[in-house]
Amino acid sequence: MTTSRTTPRSPRTAVVVGAGMVGLATAWHLQRRGVEVTVLDREGVAAGSSWGNAGWLTPGMAMPLADPTLWTYAPKALLDPAAPLHVPARLDPRLWSFLARFATHATQRAWDRAMAALTPIDRLALDAFDELAAHGVAARTTPGPFMIGFEHEKQAAPFLHEIAQVEAAGQVVPLRRIDRPDGAAPLPGPTHPDAGRAPGASDAVGRPAQLTDRVRAVYALEGQRFIEPGPYVGALGDAVRARGGRIVTGATVTGLRAQEGRGVQVLVDGQDPVVADVAVLATGAWLPGLAEPLGVRTLVQAGRGYSFTVKTDLPVEQPIYLPSRRVACTPYQGRFRIAGTMEFRGPDEPFQPRRIDAILASVRDLFQGVDLDDRHDEWVGSRPVTPDGLPLVGATRAPGVYVAGGHGMWGMVLGPATGRLLAEQIVTGTVPQEIRAFDPLR
Ligand SMILES: Cc1cc2nc3c(=O)[nH]c(=O)nc-3n(C[C@H](O)[C@H](O)[C@H](O)COP(=O)(O)OP(=O)(O)OC[C@H]3O[C@@H](n4cnc5c(N)ncnc54)[C@H](O)[C@@H]3O)c2cc1C
Repeated sequence: MTTSRTTPRSPRTAVVVGAGMVGLATAWHLQRRGVEVTVLDREGVAAGSSWGNAGWLTPGMAMPLADPTLWTYAPKALLDPAAPLHVPARLDPRLWSFLARFATHATQRAWDRAMAALTPIDRLALDAFDELAAHGVAARTTPGPFMIGFEHEKQAAPFLHEIAQVEAAGQVVPLRRIDRPDGAAPLPGPTHPDAGRAPGASDAVGRPAQLTDRVRAVYALEGQRFIEPGPYVGALGDAVRARGGRIVTGATVTGLRAQEGRGVQVLVDGQDPVVADVAVLATGAWLPGLAEPLGVRTLVQAGRGYSFTVKTDLPVEQPIYLPSRRVACTPYQGRFRIAGTMEFRGPDEPFQPRRIDAILASVRDLFQGVDLDDRHDEWVGSRPVTPDGLPLVGATRAPGVYVAGGHGMWGMVLGPATGRLLAEQIVTGTVPQEIRAFDPLR
């Protein structure tokens, strides 16, 4: 079944607000379908969350954030300022309303429902990167494997359980135990019979030299990839320009006016409005300001994460994940990017150096040969988090105005597939099955 809440005729022009991964992927796909595109950003390409993130293209891990374990770690986190999850102690009705709704989704039933809704787009995600590469986006994706480290076997149980649930929902997620620090024989334990045959699977993967002996259980996750996020989104922007698209930076959008059959007027601070047949709001964690007046009531809260890069004694070839510390690391420009924390604050609030300290304190005993004191590129970015763990992709109440966002922890991996599916909806008027659950008016 399809629903149609789109413009009656196929649009010829579009304005996309937001030049992050999601906005640019949508612009690129609209162009591919013959639509002339203007992209507006208040700062520039990849100025938001799409820059300093971990760059993991891991559909096998793209799952809802709220899960039943929230009830175990959240109360402790509220009392511990160094915990990976951080909520400032302040009276902020909007924030607490978000947290209350988020908490109602931390049940197994809600998680299963959201996972079922995410699985169809998760399954398209990597193919959507191949499509970009095949048609002119000059940036590469790199296969894993991803190295997942635990201090003891019991600590691995929740992660293994999550991966098993992702598989039960319909993805193939090859994961195997690779070694033990005492040199004992590898313990292969594929969660799926296809393990080792996944695209990009490596025959011989060893324990990363950067992990200390405290990390006693290491798993290799295959079939996933990673990118250097800022450069990748830059290349996507170049591809949009190369096809004749305009990317206007320093253009802060303040509102939209839409009238049935007469297109959309996009109001830009201090500049003339930009008029087009349709408009797409892809403003990440800043979505509510523009989208709420158009009937999008789902709260989008900035889940701020921090990252920095460091030098390592030996080159790092693969991403490393430390689930118990909630830290994700990725090779980046010859260095090693370390990313973590989930801080529920406003997207424009100042950088909090204490969050970097918290990441450092959490990994010091697990890394060796990593110079944690020589940090470059310290960064904070805002994941656009929704309470139910589902993105907001589709039409708003205003004719010809769409939103694309709210991907939370997974906007990089899901951005290209989102762009493809939303462009299809905008041009054909038919909502693809994969994004039906992401209706922004839900
Ligand atoms: C530490 C960290 C690690 C992460 N790791 C991963 C990962 O490994 N894999 C993954 O898939 N995802 C990851 N994410 C999440 C991912 O970064 C986001 O989901 C994704 O970048 C969201 O992209 P977006 O295009 O929706 O938003 P953004 O990239 O934030 O882009 C929004 C754009 O809108 C612009 N804008 C805002 N308001 C206006 C306005 N009024 N007018 C004009 N322009 C405006 C902003 O300047 C910005 O450029 C991570 C996030 C963080 C913080």
